[in-house]
Amino acid sequence: MPWSLSIGRLFGSEIRIHITFLILLVWVGVAAYGAGGAVAAVDSVGFVLAIFACVVAHELGHALAARRYGIATPDITLLPIGGMARLEKMPERPVQEIIVALAGPAVNVVIAGVLMLIAGVGFDAQTLASLENSGAGFLVRLASLNIFLVVFNLIPAFPMDGGRVLRALLALKYPRADATRYAARAGQALAFALGFLGLMSGNVLLVFIAVFVYMAAAGESYQVGMEDASRSVCVRDVMITEFETLATNATLTTAADALLRTTQHEFPIVDGAGQLRGILTRKGMMRALARSGRDTPAIEAMDTEIPLVRGHIALSQATRLMQEAGKPAIGVVDGDNRLVGYVTPENLGEFMMLAQTGALAKRTPRQTEPGPF
Ligand SMILES: [Zn+2]
Repeated sequence: MPWSLSIGRLFGSEIRIHITFLILLVWVGVAAYGAGGAVAAVDSVGFVLAIFACVVAHELGHALAARRYGIATPDITLLPIGGMARLEKMPERPVQEIIVALAGPAVNVVIAGVLMLIAGVGFDAQTLASLENSGAGFLVRLASLNIFLVVFNLIPAFPMDGGRVLRALLALKYPRADATRYAARAGQALAFALGFLGLMSGNVLLVFIAVFVYMAAAGESYQVGMEDASRSVCVRDVMITEFETLATNATLTTAADALLRTTQHEFPIVDGAGQLRGILTRKGMMRALARSGRDTPAIEAMDTEIPLVRGHIALSQATRLMQEAGKPAIGVVDGDNRLVGYVTPENLGEFMMLAQTGALAKRTPRQTEPGPF
């Protein structure tokens, strides 16, 4: 995730802090200092740090459970709204997904239990109420917060852990993409309720969380739908095959003409052997035109190291490659490494629109063994 700093590794996962989290820390410290002086500031900042240690532990719970099923977690990022463990992929077997989802809240249950033992308090309504009471002891407040984390995360709606459990339970009965859609809809309904509550009570944080929940639910639904649709399709079924290329000696003048003449927003730059040297995007073209003028060679403005795949690769795999590389396209090449087509995010979006209408479902079964390209 951009704008985040690495602070070290734990159990094979890189722990990162998002810059907005640091801003939150400063804000909490300054606000507490203004209200109660240095002692209050240290107490408040210490409490926020302790909360986030619990959040990291929660995310590590997910990560370690996922590891049991051979799934790595490259990084865990701390945001002001919580933690985010980026699992390499989600377990697809419903029972595994439930275990991975519950492992996070389970960690907070343990933390709360241990803290309450140390503090010597019981689990009752009074303890829970003390979350709001800053007069309560540090440990009791932290224990209460862990209980809050458990309850909040078990709400059965995406992107909460409870939503994953709900999805997995639904997936026992329905196709995974449908199950995701239902869980995501629950998440969006929850977001509306939270947003409404936030607006009514003037609670900015609640509105903020509502927006986050809404976007995360929509994102998950889209991604699973995409994965589902693209798993059974090869790259060559969706790639762009009618396009203009630019020669390696083309200038931005030529590129600008091509931009106007065609509907393309990106131009593969291909050498004499038909091999892809890079891709000139509209954005790259504009930036270079503003910086160094129309006579600039197009190759100086192009994106290089474009991932190359063969046409028989599953679209889902190619999409992942494009996202990981952070490139504007992936090139599709034949056995001689000559460019035969390419895939862009826009192109994928069109494929998704078609897939959602069911227009692609009736196509003949696809050949998945390697073909000519
Ligand atoms: Zn979680």
